[in-house]
Amino acid sequence: MCRSICLKGSLRRLLLAVLSMVVTGSARGGRGVVDTSASPHVRFRNVDMDAVRWTEGFWAERFELCRSATIPALIQVMQKPDNSANFQNLRIAAGLAEGKFFGNDWSDGDCYKLVEAVAAVYWVTRDPELDRWMDQWIEVIGKAQAPDGYLSTQIQLTGRQRWQDLHRHELYNMGHLLTAACVHHRATGKDNFLRIARQVGDYLCTVFLPRPKELAHFGFNPSNIMGAVELYRTTGEPRYLKLAQTFVDMRGSAPGGSDQNQDKVPLRKEQEAVGHAVTAAYLWCGAADVYAQTGEQALREALARLWEDVTERKMYITGGTAALHTGEADRRLLKRGPRDSIHEAFGAPYQLPHRTAYNETCANIAHAMWSWRMLALTGEAKYADVMERVLYNSMLSGMGVEGKDFFYTNPLRRIKGAPLLSNDSAARWPDTTPASPVHCFCCPPNVARTLAELSGWAYGVSPDTVWVHLYGGSVFDSAGIRLVQKTRYPWDGQATITIERTPETPWALRLCIPGWAQGARLQVNGEASDVEVRPLTYAVIERRWSPGDKIQLELPMEVVLIEAHPLVEETRNHVAVMRGPIVYCLESADLPESIALPDVRLPRRPAWQVRHDPDLLRGVTVLETEGAVLPKSAPSSVLYHHMPAGPIDRIKLRLIPYYAWSNRRQGDMTVWIPLE
Ligand SMILES: [Zn+2]
Repeated sequence: MCRSICLKGSLRRLLLAVLSMVVTGSARGGRGVVDTSASPHVRFRNVDMDAVRWTEGFWAERFELCRSATIPALIQVMQKPDNSANFQNLRIAAGLAEGKFFGNDWSDGDCYKLVEAVAAVYWVTRDPELDRWMDQWIEVIGKAQAPDGYLSTQIQLTGRQRWQDLHRHELYNMGHLLTAACVHHRATGKDNFLRIARQVGDYLCTVFLPRPKELAHFGFNPSNIMGAVELYRTTGEPRYLKLAQTFVDMRGSAPGGSDQNQDKVPLRKEQEAVGHAVTAAYLWCGAADVYAQTGEQALREALARLWEDVTERKMYITGGTAALHTGEADRRLLKRGPRDSIHEAFGAPYQLPHRTAYNETCANIAHAMWSWRMLALTGEAKYADVMERVLYNSMLSGMGVEGKDFFYTNPLRRIKGAPLLSNDSAARWPDTTPASPVHCFCCPPNVARTLAELSGWAYGVSPDTVWVHLYGGSVFDSAGIRLVQKTRYPWDGQATITIERTPETPWALRLCIPGWAQGARLQVNGEASDVEVRPLTYAVIERRWSPGDKIQLELPMEVVLIEAHPLVEETRNHVAVMRGPIVYCLESADLPESIALPDVRLPRRPAWQVRHDPDLLRGVTVLETEGAVLPKSAPSSVLYHHMPAGPIDRIKLRLIPYYAWSNRRQGDMTVWIPLE
């Protein structure tokens, strides 16, 4: 079975690699941050990270922020021995320091995410300092590794037995190591981290390929599936793909699994998104990676079904995907047999509270990673649309505008004085030392690696085709084609793409038209194009191009009021405001002290002024309109009261992008605003 899959797989890989080189004329390639260059079952392959550079505008600014502020801050914080994720554990395991293990079980994995982020920045900047820093950390990681390849300091330093409790995150840690090592290898061409990863991979093959019964429910938070597929792609060793498949096959294969860990029901039979929102999306990302190699239909159908369940019934308007801090998978709503306690999890369909929304930054990022993978498998714009929604809203809200402090949870409303739930905090935090309100540092390096790698998400390549998934000032240079994209997106919907170099043979440019872009228009060399430009599709312009050709895309950025499905009870008679991909919010920092945010109402037909303020929150476009303020309501201690009589005042309202909230002073905020 394995041999035939492997043989077919390798043949396909070889054929596809040859084909893609012939068709695109590329001699490089195969160095995407997720390397699908030889994956047989993708619609397009991810671009070589060298092929795309952000040049100006929104994402270029955030890459620079990540390089200059976020990464230095994280390097410093993650060397603090009392941060909940810290490198000191690895130093101790390496015999280079004295002390005890401190922090969360997933601390090692968070350190590897930081190495991955640094490798991705190095890929662009070639800063030798970063290279030296990575080599130092990798040397320590190598020394911490057990002789048989195992590496998890929360076990090695505590005298615990391996593989006793899936919540110990052993596979999560080693999974992130595999991914980080592959990215490091592609970015630097070095083998020092990859050697360690191969030993981890070989060790995991020894333990898991025989499918021992007692390990049927490992693991939890399965970054190991993505890691094993990436190790296969990097090394070409079929056993690592077999390992990834085994991890997928194990899910739900034995009685005793849980909804929380998505292993009560086999993945291929699962009908609903349940349980922990990070572990779920990591599983589905890994399964999508396996599908890209094997093309197993049942897997793809399950993933498409689950993605629809999430995005049509369980996703916030910000792209956040976890409604609940704690709860139970309700068997009547979900028809799933015995109740199961869940936490940091999807809610029931349409259960989307604002103030107590969990929406862990990692869950949101994982949802974008999963959507990006589904996009590669299908070429369908609906996946790009959700990916973009997450990136501009619930991914970015996880970090402050100065790039040095972070949210773990991302609620859609904050009311001062209202109780906070598990690992929630009223303001972003720089570290998770014992004094911090939050005790988990998984999100910050996850934001960093996403910002560092995002240029690799923006374009794709298939035979005779270049795909544009995300807009931003950038240069694409690959396969004999050089494109220069200029745009002020997401503040402005115009994007101009100039062809600077092109082969003489015809090829197609596929441009993603987001779901919100009603009335989008396309011009080629100043003349209206007759290609179809419809929201939630790719507009395809195929022709023989010449250097100097210009494509102008206009995505109208109207301010729109959004209503939710009537079963989302918290949003009845409320609207959210969007402009382009950006979700807006009302924050008390923009209201006079005397006015309480819960008393503000939005008119049903607001007249908007759209204004870009370069000095506010590192430059944001704000939306202004006149709103209403109801007479002061009863003291907040009263549960029910008569609606107060008295005059309704008018007030000038200013809305800011949701991602930029809580950067001025602590106060109230809401995405959903009640209507007047
Ligand atoms: Zn996290």
